Amino acid sequence: MLSNDELARWDRDSFMHPSTHLAQFARGEAPQRIITGGEGCHITDRDGNRLLDGFAGLYCVNVGYGRTQIAEAIAKQAHELAYYHAYAGHGSEASITLAKMVMDRAPEGMARAYFGLGGSDANETNIKLIWYYNNILGRPEKKKIISRWRGYHGSGLMTGSLTGLDLFHKKFDLPLAQVIHTEAPYYLRRPDASMSEGEFTGYCVRQLEALIEAEGPDTIAAFIGEPVLGTGGIVPPPAGYWQAIQGVLDAHDILLVADEVVTGFGRLGTMFGSDHYGMKPDLITSAKGLTSAYAPLSASIVGQRMWDVLARGTDENGVMGHGWTYSAHPIGAAAGIANLKLIDELGLVENAGTVGAYLNRRMAEELGDHPHVGEVRGEGMLCAVELVADREARRFFDPSEGKGAKVVAAMLKRGVIARAMPQGDIIGLAPPLCLSEAEADQIVETTREAVREVLG
Ligand code: PMP
Repeated sequence: MLSNDELARWDRDSFMHPSTHLAQFARGEAPQRIITGGEGCHITDRDGNRLLDGFAGLYCVNVGYGRTQIAEAIAKQAHELAYYHAYAGHGSEASITLAKMVMDRAPEGMARAYFGLGGSDANETNIKLIWYYNNILGRPEKKKIISRWRGYHGSGLMTGSLTGLDLFHKKFDLPLAQVIHTEAPYYLRRPDASMSEGEFTGYCVRQLEALIEAEGPDTIAAFIGEPVLGTGGIVPPPAGYWQAIQGVLDAHDILLVADEVVTGFGRLGTMFGSDHYGMKPDLITSAKGLTSAYAPLSASIVGQRMWDVLARGTDENGVMGHGWTYSAHPIGAAAGIANLKLIDELGLVENAGTVGAYLNRRMAEELGDHPHVGEVRGEGMLCAVELVADREARRFFDPSEGKGAKVVAAMLKRGVIARAMPQGDIIGLAPPLCLSEAEADQIVETTREAVREVLG
């Protein structure tokens, strides 16, 4: 077996990691962690640490680690048929079965599932389908997409443009011209402290209306949003937000894409976030929870209103020229089937609701009154603690102080993985949906100790 030192050197010399400080890593100045195994909500690393994974990988290992049913389903599929493509009407029993299972679980009004590999490509697909739809309808000018600041929708050219975070834009010449951004529904950062939640929702709506008016409604194809802002800070929407936004979109014939890459398949305690908030999307983006990351797979779920037009288009204009070699990969599909069955058998959607509520309540009890905690917020199995320099004045810490990252490091030292969210001092938690109350207690206790260590 390779020594730890040797492996670490190979890592530094050969492996270009995503979302990593490349120079520091190559010089050996950035953390390296090599993960070797996982069981339930815990992972183990090569140094022998056992860690409670409070972020489920990248909020994706929803059923937890070490599920042999999924591993066996993958192995069986690999033995029988590792691959065949899905172009021109081809398929496998696994991919067809999974499509049926996804549609059985999808919110009302959805018509078909299109499979890709991850959240970014599913959003690329969705934007292409929207453009295709408007071309079929003879509206070539209706193409712009509205996204929110702090939204996260991937890191491709289009999806990185939709993402509303500086880190994903500035050094990559993004966003592309067809993408415009509107206000994030982030109540803690509302422009005027005296606004109620309802008034802030009204403010977000007016910002959206003004943008649509300025750009021209006939140029705007769709609005994309996560039911709960994820990577941008784990921020549930203010009261009445989605109903109010939906009203504006309907008035201007603008499609709604619900990006449910994080919220899809149970994370909010409902199968989809669209069910949770009463959203009526035309497209749903899903990935992570579809296979709990046991194999890469995404599903773009197409609503009836779009399907009727897309199906017409393919009859009149020929083949829909959009596909990936690995669309509906049988191994991903086999993982998806086993994963969705397990979610049902173990009652994980319900567990996400009950234990998630417990986690959020306990966190608020322990940290809600801390002078440097601006807010404890969450929904289902999502929870965030946002640190502030001054609660009353809503003054945030200077980012260069790295307070959030310091708290997350102090948690790691105590055996719990949280995520320092990329824009603000926000400690993010998104554990596997199988989290127990005892594990939730451990997360809360660890967060409390780490906040005390860093901020007193
Ligand atoms: N949409 C959302 C809401 C996400 O959180 C993510 C990933 N964190 C993506 C899209 C992109 O997914 P992927 O990284 O699988 O491309």
